[in-house]
Amino acid sequence: MRCPYCRVDNDKVIDSRTGQDGFAIRRRRECVHCGRRFTTYERVEEPVMNVVKKDGIREPFNREKIKSGLKKACWKRPVSDDQLEAIVADVENDCYANFETEVDSAYLGNLIMKKLRELDQVAFVRFASVYREFKDVRDFVHELQPILAEAKRSPK
Ligand SMILES: [Zn+2]
Repeated sequence: MRCPYCRVDNDKVIDSRTGQDGFAIRRRRECVHCGRRFTTYERVEEPVMNVVKKDGIREPFNREKIKSGLKKACWKRPVSDDQLEAIVADVENDCYANFETEVDSAYLGNLIMKKLRELDQVAFVRFASVYREFKDVRDFVHELQPILAEAKRSPK
């Protein structure tokens, strides 16, 4: 670290302490050149994930927004709040594991749909219809055919 007094880059750490919250370390340093002391702080960088929308606009990853979308899709369906929380947590973990700072909204949407589809078919269809913004009913039917066929094969 460069000394703030004499600008020489040669110092030794004489004391290190972790801050009360555990997210920062304070270091007392002594400049080997001029002998003066100064302090540096090392902090955890808050993870920031942005969602890149189709039009290129970025907005912060918002778990509450995802959850409220899921809640709407699951209205009057036998899905518990815990199950929705689990989906949100899965989705969040996946994004932070696979992306550094930005995730594509299409990736995010598909991920949510995949999880929802495993959980509840009706909720999945509702979510997909809002999310995909189907241009006409044929697109919608086309998209749903494989799911409906699957549902027929394995009735619950
Ligand atoms: Zn110095």
